[in-house]
Amino acid sequence: MDQLKDRILQEASIMNNEVLKLDGLLNHQVDPELTVDMGKEFARLFAESGITKVITVESSGIPVAFTTALSLGVPLVFARRKKTLIADPDAYTERVPSFTKGIVTDIMVSRQFLQADDTVLFIDDIIANGDAARGLIKIIERSGAKLAGVGIVVEKAFQAGARTIREQGIRVESLVRIASLEDGVIRFES
Ligand code: 5GP
Repeated sequence: MDQLKDRILQEASIMNNEVLKLDGLLNHQVDPELTVDMGKEFARLFAESGITKVITVESSGIPVAFTTALSLGVPLVFARRKKTLIADPDAYTERVPSFTKGIVTDIMVSRQFLQADDTVLFIDDIIANGDAARGLIKIIERSGAKLAGVGIVVEKAFQAGARTIREQGIRVESLVRIASLEDGVIRFES
């Protein structure tokens, strides 16, 4: 998405060789029109996949997952980050390390909102090592639902996350792929 590449070049700042600050676009401020266009693009890519539900992880994935769900005409479910250690028998839970925060959090989805007859599209903002995605994929697998694919706004292609998920045979579509952040320059894959 060229429009998104332009906005990343305008809004993003490079924290170090691995981390891009995208507060102006994804993680703090959101551009509604651009987010609608991103949702339409994911909906176009997965139009033939029979999606019954879009799923994401709170919080930064929610705006683009919402516009994708709106374009597909299906509900959005967001996995919640749990703060309690009490096991909930009515929920699927996975422990995931957080790339940016350096801590471990539990994500949970109520069994009520993810069922074996669902075909789900998982949408997220950024993929790095893929821990968050793998956690949610495990939850989807345990529910018996079918995972149609993964839609990522920004894939940091120099980290292993998206590649390892593709190697599992899962379709991963990224709106923008970043090849490198080295030397203070954002380089996109063509
Ligand atoms: P992963 O689990 O794939 O290693 O990391 C995924 C999550 O970490 C993303 O949902 C995002 O919130 C955060 N993250 C990873 N890399 C970056 C980055 O370069 N910039 C920002 N802003 N967030 C990131």
